[in-house]
Amino acid sequence: MCEECLVFTQRSQLSTVRHSRAYGHFSYIYPVISRRSRGLSIGVNLSLDNRCNYNCIYCEVDRSAPAAAAQVDPEALGQELYQMLSDLSPHSPALRDVTFAGNGEPMAVRCLDHCIDLAADTLDALGFADIPVVVITNGTFIHRPWGKRALARLAAAGGEVWIKLDAGDQERMTRINSTLFPLEKLEENIFDASRVLPVTLQSMFMKRWGQPPSDEAVDRYIGCLNRLTEAGAVIAGVQVYTVARQPRLSHITALDAPALEAIVSRIRTETGLPAASFA
Ligand code: SF4
Repeated sequence: MCEECLVFTQRSQLSTVRHSRAYGHFSYIYPVISRRSRGLSIGVNLSLDNRCNYNCIYCEVDRSAPAAAAQVDPEALGQELYQMLSDLSPHSPALRDVTFAGNGEPMAVRCLDHCIDLAADTLDALGFADIPVVVITNGTFIHRPWGKRALARLAAAGGEVWIKLDAGDQERMTRINSTLFPLEKLEENIFDASRVLPVTLQSMFMKRWGQPPSDEAVDRYIGCLNRLTEAGAVIAGVQVYTVARQPRLSHITALDAPALEAIVSRIRTETGLPAASFA
């Protein structure tokens, strides 16, 4: 769930610094200028312990440092969000969304539904009723009872879900995301989520040992998108992106903009889905 960004180093002041999810004395909330939100996004990190059920080869989260306790306090989160939104001045960039992302998988948190309600209510109370709540997820908890509750609350709040899909075959998914979660189940979860609310897919393409993804890897990925749409999944769009900063694995590097755009072009032509690249 990593994001290239500009971070507020002081209230109402932007600077280009390495992304940190620490902001003042806040535990959960951090402001970023997000490429994919195309403006100011208020991020919500529910993974205070920095844990994730994936271990993506491109992940930029530093898990070597001691982490805080895992327990989420929704009321404290709500207070931080209220304070952050109250601090936005007329000179702040336009707010685009409030996004649950952070240092791990937000849908692993069982009170995510409550946190979504709090975020939507806070936006409403402070005059930001038209600003959506977004959840960025790897999709592996969508079939769980708390995942279903979260999606239902998100849909009721007029929000969006952005789901990670980095490969179109099991072997590559296992290698890229370092997970044994079945791709078939992920596709089922994407399909089920799309029956509840708009789904945007987020797909990471990168170089490994200096090599771009093979044509076969992109073929299999496009095949996966076509399986989803042919099954009736409603996909609002596909975001194709690459690494923004050096991941902990030094052989993972960014794909150049023309190569990303070539993948986007293939998605548009071969699936008919809206797609955009974020170099
Ligand atoms: S899903 Fe992958 S990129 Fe996102 S936090 Fe987990 S390991 Fe990192």
